[in-house]
Amino acid sequence: MRAMTASPELFASLTDDVVASGSDTVPVATPSTGETLHELPRSSAGDVHDAVARARLAQLAWARAGFAERRRVLLRAHDLVLERRELLLDLIQLESGKTRGQAFEEVFGAASLTRYNALAARRVLRGRRRRSGVPVVLTTRVRYRPRGVAGVITPWNYALSLAAMDVVPALAAGCAVVQKADDQGALSILALRRAFIDAGVPEALWAVVTGEGSEVGEALTDVADYICFTGSTATGRRIGEKAGRRLVGASLELGGKNPLIVLDDVDPEQAATDAAYACFAAMGQLCVSIERIYVHRAVARAFTRALIDRLEQAKLGSSLDYGSDFGSLASAAQLARVEAHLGDALALGATVLTGGRPRTDVGPWFFQPTVLIGVTPSMHVYAEETFGAIASLYIVDSEEEAILAANASEYGLNAAVFTGSTRRGQRVANALEAGNVNINEGYRGSYSSFAAPMGGMKQSGVGRRNGPEGLLRFVEPVTISAMTGVLQLPRTGREFGALEQPLLLLAWVLRGIRRR
Ligand code: NAD
Repeated sequence: MRAMTASPELFASLTDDVVASGSDTVPVATPSTGETLHELPRSSAGDVHDAVARARLAQLAWARAGFAERRRVLLRAHDLVLERRELLLDLIQLESGKTRGQAFEEVFGAASLTRYNALAARRVLRGRRRRSGVPVVLTTRVRYRPRGVAGVITPWNYALSLAAMDVVPALAAGCAVVQKADDQGALSILALRRAFIDAGVPEALWAVVTGEGSEVGEALTDVADYICFTGSTATGRRIGEKAGRRLVGASLELGGKNPLIVLDDVDPEQAATDAAYACFAAMGQLCVSIERIYVHRAVARAFTRALIDRLEQAKLGSSLDYGSDFGSLASAAQLARVEAHLGDALALGATVLTGGRPRTDVGPWFFQPTVLIGVTPSMHVYAEETFGAIASLYIVDSEEEAILAANASEYGLNAAVFTGSTRRGQRVANALEAGNVNINEGYRGSYSSFAAPMGGMKQSGVGRRNGPEGLLRFVEPVTISAMTGVLQLPRTGREFGALEQPLLLLAWVLRGIRRR
């Protein structure tokens, strides 16, 4: 095994950056052994208010600095993230228990989306002329004003890359960020932040607070100028209500119960290999992970056999190298959640095709990737998000049946279709009710396309991150109209009377030549 670059001294120096005035700490465990990795300081509601006040001041200068300066700093941050990848990979693995491959996806993704936002911000957010209400008499421009301080609340599962998806566009748009990190994942976020600070982002512009969601998260929701939340649908609903009461904007990236359709024209071996990754990368603890597989009867036997083989041959582990295929569940709570869904399903008649047991021989919270058949609506696992290690397999007789079943969910985050025909894939994709649809990949196509919006329909969320849409969240459009002085708008009855016919003529001409 390679030498670890992370150390207790490094953990302490990183956690010094948490805005926490008290001396309270909480132990954070590493999933590979279940032992305490480090002690994380806890912030209070007062710390949130202090961080927001300082961020407000820092934001004024950052907004004035302009697009070119922000681009320079963010591109430098991109370089530092890649240069420091070994440390970031170690921290992600130590905190989450995922494999090096999935940690690499996080780091590489964070760098890529930093590059995208650095380079796209000016193009998306620079002021523009728009057609004015009365040509010649008026000119109209739209400028985009940064909202101020964005409150970013992130979960534990993809701590680094999910943080970057909200923090980086906020910075690129000229906002400041106060981020409430989950305890698990805070080290990775702090190390990522350090790269940005070293690249030139002012310290107060991106503050990190930690602590209970019910205290620290709520305090942030009460004062931020815009809220980016990633987490469960239940918490997202609560945050959306609070933001609504305050009339501030919010983007809510929530849960999913993501379907995969396997059509009758696939290569079953390849489809099974891709399905295994789509379901069990990060042990299924990713919002876009596949939890429902609808396989066409014509290929069901070959696909299922290949899927079982693939999962049973896969190497479980969390060593700090590329030697493992699948990692650990992230915590004892996650293990309990998986076991509860499995126990309920088995009690109500589901059958385990493969897996279905803890792997304490590898580590305390490891679980063998599990595929169930015979899942029915009475079971929790049927419609509720498990968020770990279990996929349910259903056999269908047609494309239409698969689409109907895939769409029969309160969620609409991610969906996938595997097929031998791209045309057919596009047709099915158009019929699926999800904010992200992938053809011949489980989720990585859309998840890695940082120039395109990512987010959910139905109970999976409100708003989109990534792409121009992700940047536009952080600005208020301001429309500025100015009289040219060439003519005046009518003010008296006589002036209206004189202008009525010319204006009507203008309207018909513009409509005739299809001018907006
Ligand atoms: P969670 O809702 O319990 O917690 C998420 C974050 O919100 C944590 O930092 C938590 O401390 C904080 N929080 C909790 N209560 C709060 C409150 N009242 N006010 C403010 N903040 C509060 O979610 P989780 O269990 O940590 O994460 C798993 C969930 O996140 C899954 O449902 C998963 O699908 C979802 N998720 C969605 C996306 C996406 O992009 N759509 C990405 C990753 C995870």
